[in-house]
Amino acid sequence: MAQPPAVRDKDWDYLPSAQTAEMVSIDDRYGLYIDGKFRAPRSRRYQETINPATEEPIARVAEAGARDVDLAVSAARTAFAGEWGRMGGGERAKYLFRIARMLQERSREFAVLETIDGGKPIKEARDIDLPLAAAHFFYYAGWADKLEYAFAGVKPEPLGVAGQVIPWNFPMLMLAWKVAPALAAGNTVVLKPAETTPLTALLFASLTAEAGLPPGVLNIVTGAGRTGAAVVEHPGVDKVAFTGSTAVGKGIQRALAGTGKKLTLELGGKGAHVIFDDAPIDQAVEGVINGIFFNQGHVCCAGSRLFVQENIHDHFLDKLRNRLGTLRVGDPLDKNTDIGAINSAEQLQRIEGLVSAGLEEGAELYQPDCALPARGFYFRPTLFTGVAQSHRIAQEEIFGPVLSVMSFRTPAEAVEKANNTPYGLSAGVWTTKGSRILWMADRLRAGVVWANTYNKFDPASPFGGYRESGFGREGGRHGLAAYLKGPWS
Ligand code: NAD
Repeated sequence: MAQPPAVRDKDWDYLPSAQTAEMVSIDDRYGLYIDGKFRAPRSRRYQETINPATEEPIARVAEAGARDVDLAVSAARTAFAGEWGRMGGGERAKYLFRIARMLQERSREFAVLETIDGGKPIKEARDIDLPLAAAHFFYYAGWADKLEYAFAGVKPEPLGVAGQVIPWNFPMLMLAWKVAPALAAGNTVVLKPAETTPLTALLFASLTAEAGLPPGVLNIVTGAGRTGAAVVEHPGVDKVAFTGSTAVGKGIQRALAGTGKKLTLELGGKGAHVIFDDAPIDQAVEGVINGIFFNQGHVCCAGSRLFVQENIHDHFLDKLRNRLGTLRVGDPLDKNTDIGAINSAEQLQRIEGLVSAGLEEGAELYQPDCALPARGFYFRPTLFTGVAQSHRIAQEEIFGPVLSVMSFRTPAEAVEKANNTPYGLSAGVWTTKGSRILWMADRLRAGVVWANTYNKFDPASPFGGYRESGFGREGGRHGLAAYLKGPWS
């Protein structure tokens, strides 16, 4: 087959197009947001949050101890027993609509702060994370006064205090996935953001104060794993919603067994992206790029395993390698950047470790020869061919810009290989045949199956996994059920 023409002209490049950060004001030090006020931690401990694109410190953020978590849970219990617990859904909806509108109005400020604290490209924070976060608040605001119509024959009653723990890959979006349905259903919240990306959650806390949300309805406690454990294990918490790694999720499930607390777990994934020979090839290449390189591959549902039908494998790989060469890696605040910074030194080490394992196990590595900034945590877009099902890079979640490519001959073989992981979060299928899409979707063991697209999210659409990817759904009407009493709880 003829080689596709090289699309990269090395003499030609984009000029820098820096997003200014002038609309963002960052304090030197942040306290905990408890009962409607920022307060110094009783623990007296603070942790630094750094900019992963430059390794420079940004601010010191409180590390909540057990006593602080106790205060936050008490504030949430008091608010639940008080005005918020008695408020009608129509009134709660007004707060949620106000929060959604304010998020839209201040969207650029939030997006820039998200990029500075987390390393994601500004074009993604600006065009995806923030619009989707606001959309979740709008969507659940719409449900707040219609709960009795959401589930036939069920009297909608909130669970009480929700303890929520979120990861660093989509800080504001994960916050919205958790806070919006919890409040719409009438619960109160204690939320712990990830230790490497606490700043937008704290800015959000001040936004809710401006929106007039009653004190104690939303409390934000910052800190690392110990703080998260104190939240989920606190006896005053009625419902735990956790998004993060499978290892930590399993520990939480063990810790909560027998306590009567409700639990939803959104954990890791190793998504399969399946390309049939009748797929629109150029669109499929774009889908694969979006599937694995969006947000540096720090995406639980990333299409990190690619299965290409054998008769188009080499042609598809030529196109994919060419496209990799056009990805711009670097300063996340540059509006042209496609791949920003890896979120932390620890995550970079994990990616490097798994890439070394791929080489040791005999897979073949391809990376474009793009330059990386001298400081900060960066990793080149990477693809591995010659990958076997048993390789660690085909089984373990890398959570970075690394794609493992394999081939298949028949649809049945594609299904068998795609399902061969302990996870079950997401999959994608590219083919022009509608019947084949349905046949595949029936057999792929994944909570979400995209057809001729990938990584598309909508607040009305439930999201969640099977097996080691967790249980429970976020988004849509299903996302409300997780915060209401009912036959399912
Ligand atoms: P992580 O499990 O290390 O941390 C997630 C959060 O849990 C952080 O806030 C952390 O401080 C906290 N935490 C750590 N130990 C804890 C403990 N013992 N008890 C309570 N809380 C604790 O995961 P991570 O590295 O931050 O995030 C990446 C993982 O999250 C990946 O595996 C990814 O697939 C998963 N994720 C899943 C989804 C989904 O919807 N399924 C979405 C985003 C990320």
